[in-house]
Amino acid sequence: MQINQFNEVISACRFCFMCRHLSAVGLVSCRESDTPRGRALIADRIRMHPEELGNPDFVDTIYRSDLSGANRFHCDGYHDGSGYDEVGLQLALRRDIVEAGFAPESVKAIAAEFQSSENWSIEGSGEVLYFIDPCTAARPDTTAAVAKVLNRAGVPFATIRGGCIGKALAVLGFASEAETAMRKFAAAVNATGIKTLLVSSPAAADALRNDFKTAGVELKPEVRFTAGYFVELAEKGKLRFSTRNFAASYLASDYLKNYLRCDCAEKLLALLGIENRQFGTNPEESFTAGEGALVLARLHPELAKQLAARIAARAEPGIPLITASAYTADLLAAAGADVSTLDEVAAEALC
Ligand code: SF4
Repeated sequence: MQINQFNEVISACRFCFMCRHLSAVGLVSCRESDTPRGRALIADRIRMHPEELGNPDFVDTIYRSDLSGANRFHCDGYHDGSGYDEVGLQLALRRDIVEAGFAPESVKAIAAEFQSSENWSIEGSGEVLYFIDPCTAARPDTTAAVAKVLNRAGVPFATIRGGCIGKALAVLGFASEAETAMRKFAAAVNATGIKTLLVSSPAAADALRNDFKTAGVELKPEVRFTAGYFVELAEKGKLRFSTRNFAASYLASDYLKNYLRCDCAEKLLALLGIENRQFGTNPEESFTAGEGALVLARLHPELAKQLAARIAARAEPGIPLITASAYTADLLAAAGADVSTLDEVAAEALC
């Protein structure tokens, strides 16, 4: 089983409760099973009794995880730059569940949809290929903002859209299907000959930079996240932004912060003159409503709504929220929050 690669994590986390405050799902459900310790105890039980892998309560709990990775930096066992890889254990559990045929029908239905949705279409031409993932495509303000910024900078660009690049499949535990999707996307992208692949989705950036490499799928263009690319264009004098002079709370992306360790969002906000006001009572928590789990809002819509409502209720009056992902922005907007994505804020600040 895949979880056997994580024996050290299981052994460490099953008796440790030090990051319980960093499990966003546990904070809204108040279930101990929704914490890293609870999930490690489930893994430990399965390690000792593999026949328990199909236990419906176990399976349900593992697919409720928000996969934020917040405890990667705040793990009690944090040494030499990393803590115990509790996210890796969750993903291994999901793979074991899928490979043993215990995936819930709801999970199988979403995976089947992502497998059959690949229909890549490329429009335009230029030096940049902008990948519009399904979450970003569902938020036209963000895609329009990116187009506005690139046009202002005089950067000719093409777009590619039309399916899953494998990230959602991987997160759900469908590893081989995910690799197939990666190879199809890479073939479509590599055939364009374009040297820069631009993404607005932090999850897509993680997939293209990390997952593809791990799976041995060659992607020829350099992968850039929009916030960092915009900062670079400004440094080269191709873009000018007005100083915004207001305070906002940037809700750090799970993928940018905990998976990619990228601070490009903070750099963009500083460039725009936006005071980044800390959200909540500590900088350790994840306030993304399950961005790390990618499809949590489809698997457990009520849970995702609870996560978003908790964030919206804690927002300071008069202090807007800024997110990196369209996924989080849409959930928070539905919960009544004043929220924009980084791309939208950048477009509004153009001179
Ligand atoms: S991830 Fe670290 S802090 Fe959290 S339960 Fe495991 S050992 Fe403890």
